[in-house]
Amino acid sequence: MILHIDMDAFFASVEQLDNPELIGKCVIVGGMSNRSVVSAASYEARKFGVHSAMPMYKARQMCPDAVFLPPRMKRYKELSRQIMAILKNLSPLVEPISIDEAYVDLTGCERLHGDPLTISNKLKQEIRTKVHLNCSVGVAPNKFMAKIASDMNKPDGLKIIMPEEAPEFIKSLPVSNVPGVGTKMKNQLHHLGIIILNDVANYPEGLLIKKLGKFGKRLIELSACIDRSCVVAESCRRSVSCEETLAYDTKDRNLLRKYVLRFSEAVGKELRMLGMKAKTIHLKIKHADFQQVTRGVTIEKQTQASEIIFSEAIQLLNNYPLEKEVRLIGVGASGLVPMGTYTQMDLFNELKKRDDNWERLDRVMDKIEKKYGNNIVRRASLSKQ
Ligand SMILES: [Mg+2]
Repeated sequence: MILHIDMDAFFASVEQLDNPELIGKCVIVGGMSNRSVVSAASYEARKFGVHSAMPMYKARQMCPDAVFLPPRMKRYKELSRQIMAILKNLSPLVEPISIDEAYVDLTGCERLHGDPLTISNKLKQEIRTKVHLNCSVGVAPNKFMAKIASDMNKPDGLKIIMPEEAPEFIKSLPVSNVPGVGTKMKNQLHHLGIIILNDVANYPEGLLIKKLGKFGKRLIELSACIDRSCVVAESCRRSVSCEETLAYDTKDRNLLRKYVLRFSEAVGKELRMLGMKAKTIHLKIKHADFQQVTRGVTIEKQTQASEIIFSEAIQLLNNYPLEKEVRLIGVGASGLVPMGTYTQMDLFNELKKRDDNWERLDRVMDKIEKKYGNNIVRRASLSKQ
């Protein structure tokens, strides 16, 4: 059995937790520019139709009296770590999906912690007493169903699908609930007369695969309650990345280089926290017309150093012809391997010092930029010294 846990309106709930005056009020957390999207909305704000990923300007129109707050990632990460630690107490197989979401493989936990219902209730209670936040939990025979289950009775929800209930549950599930089915795919499926997963099971297999390729195969498997993906513990993570939608579309290389610097730093830091080194560095670009391009380079010696990630990513950017405006940019690292066990405390301190240096450098450059405008060339040369 797989458990999926999702914190309820996480960022907004943390804001209400830290500032009790906000309890019962519409709280919307997100970037402050109009191009930003809502990161989280309290359940009070959701009544007005506000939801995460909605453009901020739209949220302002729908709920003008809400309290709008910028995200405080440091605080959210702190609480996230506490939550993940509670999960790791339950099972060694915990796969964090995002800051407030994770899968836990409960196989072998029953003897120790009880049946899925007991485990889920205990878990919810522990998070409530230790972290003072509510979460929703779903338990099912596979990851796909567990995620859907956790979403069913939000907030403070709990839904358990026992193996014998799975086929019935799957049958009536709308295809639009399947991750990866966007509006376009939904329309395509509806056009084929496929509205719920039972329709997939009744559709000629070969034809569906011919029409939808790999995804058709995945749908057929899901409709038969088969999801082959396993819970992958964090120590087996295969990639790390950091990306952002820009405040406005741009072709300004200097500005883009600034983002690449920031993200390289964040990716390096994450790798060091995970104790992993990366073989491949990626640059991701999404253009204003939503065309997405990824460029990658495999490096000779695996690394977790921000400087090396930056120098590789910046080369990828320099070699990329910027013919169209860029909407989103990101840096990623993949082909992760664990650091050798020879990592010593000295090295750890060395890396921490390096992080501090980078942060200091970043602050200095921010000041310079404020004074003189974007001039990344100076920043890049500074970092080489
Ligand atoms: Mg959540």
